[in-house]
Amino acid sequence: MFGRERMGECKLCGKKGRNLSLFMANHKDLGSIMVCQECWVKLYEENRMVCGTSGGSGGTCPTCGS
Ligand SMILES: [Zn+2]
Repeated sequence: MFGRERMGECKLCGKKGRNLSLFMANHKDLGSIMVCQECWVKLYEENRMVCGTSGGSGGTCPTCGS
């Protein structure tokens, strides 16, 4: 399921497109999903992500910042 999707699609809002930037989010209910930046920010602000997300900028955890 992961790693082979050429066309990104946000698992939350369904937005898709070749130029869509997707982010891996460890959703508390849905697990690891690819979401668009808007949804990622939304999840982040609502604290719906599990700490320890990988894939992304590497290094710091986007959820807790450590
Ligand atoms: Zn979205």
